[in-house]
Amino acid sequence: MIFRILEDQLAQKSRETKDADRRFMQLALMLGRRGQGRTWPNPAVGAVVVRDGVIVGRGWTQPGGRPHAEPEALRRAGEAAQGATLYVTLEPCSHVGKSPPCVDAIIAAGIARVVSAIEDPNPEVAGQGHAKLRAAGIKVDVGLGAEEAARDHAGHFRRVRDKRPHVILKLAVSPDDKIAAAGHTPVAITGEAARTQVHLLRAQCDAILVGIGTVLADDPLLTCRLPGMEARSPVRVVLDRALRIPGTSRLVHSARETPLWVVTSELAEAAAAMKLGAAGAQVIRVATTTSPPGLDVLAVLHALAARGRGRARSIAAIGNHAVAGLEGSC
Ligand SMILES: [Zn+2]
Repeated sequence: MIFRILEDQLAQKSRETKDADRRFMQLALMLGRRGQGRTWPNPAVGAVVVRDGVIVGRGWTQPGGRPHAEPEALRRAGEAAQGATLYVTLEPCSHVGKSPPCVDAIIAAGIARVVSAIEDPNPEVAGQGHAKLRAAGIKVDVGLGAEEAARDHAGHFRRVRDKRPHVILKLAVSPDDKIAAAGHTPVAITGEAARTQVHLLRAQCDAILVGIGTVLADDPLLTCRLPGMEARSPVRVVLDRALRIPGTSRLVHSARETPLWVVTSELAEAAAAMKLGAAGAQVIRVATTTSPPGLDVLAVLHALAARGRGRARSIAAIGNHAVAGLEGSC
């Protein structure tokens, strides 16, 4: 009987720990998202320090990528980090970058347990962060919230694994599966809520991409216009095979304030490219395909990943079916 009671108590305690773990990891994921679109060249990570069920420190990767989330959370926790649990949305770094390794800070702070969402595929980390923590006698649990974390770090993962950006396609489609009125006349398909979502997506991605057709039709500015988030405008990318982008467009006019990358064919006119360069835009030349005629999709993605020291890790592609295939109107 006594064993039965003890077993029940143990089961109850383990259920409570699992619930608490889930709750604190959710909070860490939420905190990590605060940095999305602003932490290049580092991934946007969230961290929470918990001692005896009480949150004693919270942190997320700061704008520009430093400090990392873990030292931020540990700094706020101070002495209370001793014997505490650290929840973190990505494997803590173990290599010396521009700042000392986070695992050293975690060990020095006296953390007893680390709950880490997912391993960092960056070859400089790749399991070594977790291993170093375990070697220091810290209990390490990996995998809680892995799916959400993989989504949040998609740009970082894609760049490390495939040397290309992660592309999120936003398509405005009417209930009858159309994207414009007859004769390509533009019509408003999305409402206020969808527009806010699009602006949020722009702020959370490193880059936003449209086809030249959208530029010619709408003359968009493509910055983030959500109140208080204007400074979070991503790099603007235009697919423009024949360099038809007008010098008078709002994109070209604002190229010195917010970066503008124009992706074009190797055959596009040199004079037009020079004019764009003089206006502050960057012209990126890539290979083309003949059938269908357009820019080579993979060449575009690899060129974007290589540009600006890999700044465009996640891209919001906004537009029509042409952009969906990165062809046709480009
Ligand atoms: Zn770190």
